[in-house]
Formats: sequence, structure tokens, C-alpha cells
Amino acid sequence: MSSKLAQTYTSASNWAKLTASKLQITKNPNPKQPLPNDKLVFGQSFTDHMVQIKWNDKEGWASPQIVPYGPLSLDPSAAVFHYAFELFEGMKAYRDSNDQIRLFRPDKNMIRMNQSAERIVLPAFDGEELIKVISELIKLDKHLIPKEKGYSLYIRPTLIGTTPGLGVNTPTEALLYVITCPVGPYYSTGFKAVRLEATDHVTRAWPGGVGDKKLGVNYAPSVKPQLEAAERGYQQNLWLFGEEKTITEVGTMNVFFVFKDSTTGKKELVTAPLDGTILPGVTRDSILALTRDRLDSNEWEVNERYTTIYEVAEKSKKGELVEAFGSGTAAVVSPIKEIAFNGESINVPLLEGEQFGELTGTVAQWISKIQYGDEEYKNWSRVVADLK
Ligand SMILES: *Cc1c(COP(=O)(O)O)cnc(C)c1O
Repeated sequence: MSSKLAQTYTSASNWAKLTASKLQITKNPNPKQPLPNDKLVFGQSFTDHMVQIKWNDKEGWASPQIVPYGPLSLDPSAAVFHYAFELFEGMKAYRDSNDQIRLFRPDKNMIRMNQSAERIVLPAFDGEELIKVISELIKLDKHLIPKEKGYSLYIRPTLIGTTPGLGVNTPTEALLYVITCPVGPYYSTGFKAVRLEATDHVTRAWPGGVGDKKLGVNYAPSVKPQLEAAERGYQQNLWLFGEEKTITEVGTMNVFFVFKDSTTGKKELVTAPLDGTILPGVTRDSILALTRDRLDSNEWEVNERYTTIYEVAEKSKKGELVEAFGSGTAAVVSPIKEIAFNGESINVPLLEGEQFGELTGTVAQWISKIQYGDEEYKNWSRVVADLK
């Protein structure tokens, strides 16, 4: 980053800062009735209100607004439509047994959102202030936050460059908005282990690229390979990288493997290191922290290291592949039961009669307990509203 950019986009001393205390609210005159929980489809029904915060390079951040949910009006030449000046976050609000609403490690999402913004020269902001604004949005739409365990309110903060004009330039105008939708458990009937196709003809992310940022530009090109895998009966792509066929991520999730050394009996939990090609998942980080804290180190090693599809295939043949799962906010963990590669099928064991492995199930419970406030852990779960 050049020093001029660094000055403009990180110090921002002459701009108005994003400040929750300036929030203005326009209520929706036609509030929705909540859908029954069993009618909730991920990302299909939105709440009554949305956050909008405009920015420009002269004045900085305008007053945050909460307004009725509805269409945006933008110039057709706006930067977002032509050069993909867009980034987003995905987080959830959980209703605990005392009717308090909790966010799970929202500070991590705010840091990541600022890192994504920095990469495409969109403006930085104080994440704690945005969390306060989001908390007010949650309170306004509280009647739409589902009650049952496994249900939650998905929160989608988005930042776009809105400058009109077709020059490929630093956006001088931007819009940060936040929409929310009530969601059910990712798998409506408990876990459903997935079949993956190991994909090496398409590369999701590469060194020097932007795979570690939640930029919209990373996602549109991933749909075609996913459709192709689906035509062959596989739900997701296991993204490989390079000649070594290093395993990076699965679909839009981070990926973990459990190996067991057949001579020493020692187990290893492995996920790819954050080398710039891997999205730094909050769930990934939480799984690493919890397993390092709670698994017996005489029996377990937890490693951020490269593994390849060849290593997984070889370990599988020796009976040393124990479990595999994806991780992300939407599903927490997503068990894997099979990986197709080069015309061969690698079977991943599951617990007898279940759709998941032992550690996969344990980790899912650990995280869910913290998210729903049944257990406190390092202030990871933050109460942002009390609906009693
Ligand atoms: C969002 C995302 C993840 C998971 O991140 P979480 O913070 O755990 O939800 C993993 N990989 C990709 C490519 C993602 O976009």
C-alpha cells in the first residue's frame, strides 16, 4: 500500500468516523409476521429493517440509518457493478434460553471486514461501532429472531463502491449495509455427511491472490465447478492447489482432517495454514483454539500444516484416515463421508449409524454451547440485546 493510500484509508483523521451514537431510525410501517421455523429457507426471507451507512471521500461516514428493508437505488455505472468493488461478512445472532441475543466473536468478523475493505480500497471503519448499530437492528427486528436451538438470525454486512463512472479507480463513494434473515439449522434433520469431488482443473485461490478476503469476486466463479461436481453426484468441491495437489478448502468452508498413526496410536487434527490463499474462518480459529485447549495432548496433535490429496488417499489405504469435516458459520461443521479423486473414491469413516465422526460431533457441541450461551468461554459470546 502506498503511503498516500495508507494515509487516506487507515488514519482517516479528517473524515467523520462511523459512529453508532448518530444512528437514525425510520420504522417499517408494515412489520412482518414471523414464518414458522420449518418454513425458513437459508437466505430467502429477510427482516423488516436494514442498516445503511453512506461514505464519501470528502466527509467520511454519514450518520448510520436503519430503514425499512427494500431495494437500493444506484447509478448503473457504479463501481460495484463493473469492477466488483464488493465485500461481505457472514455472522449470526443466537437467542439464548434467557431470551438474550448473542453474537459469536463479532470482533473477528469486523477485523476481517476491514481487511477485505483495505484490499479493494474501500474505507475502513470502527468495527465496535458497527456492532452497536447491528445490535440496534437486531432489537428492532427481535420478533423475527427464531427461538429454537439450531435456529438463529443470519447477519450479512456488505460494503460496496458506489461511485458513478467507468474509470477503474479508487471509489470515492461507498455504501455499507446490513441485512438479516432468520435461518434454521443448515441440515434440517441433524447432520448430513457430504460427498466431495477433489477439484484440480479449477483453482479457487492462489498465492498473491485474494482467497483470504471475503470479496464477492471469489464466489461467482465457484458456482460452475460446483454445478459440474453436482452433475456427477458430489455436493461440493474439495479445492486443490498446485502440482502437489495441496488441500485448501471445501466449497465455501475451511476443511479439517483427522489422522491416526497406526503404530503410535496418536491422532492429528490438520487444517491448511493461513498462507494468504485460505479464508481465515472464525469457526476454523475457534476449532483450533478449543481443540488445543481441550484435547489430551498425549493423544492428540493439532496442526496447521499442508496436506495433499495423495496423503489423504494413502492414509485412507492404511486405515489412518479417521474423520474429515468442513467448518463455517452457516453449518458450524459439515461432516464429509467420501472424496472422489482421479476416478478413485476415498471413504471417510463415520460413527456407526451416524452421519458424523466422533471429533466432528464433539466440536459441533462445544461451539454450539458457547454460541447459545449455555457455556461461557473467553468472552466469545457477546450479549447484545436482552429481550426479556
Ligand atoms: C466465510 C468462509 C469460510 C468460513 O468462515 P467463518 O468465519 O468460519 O464463517 C471459509 N471459507 C470461505 C471461502 C469462506 O468464504
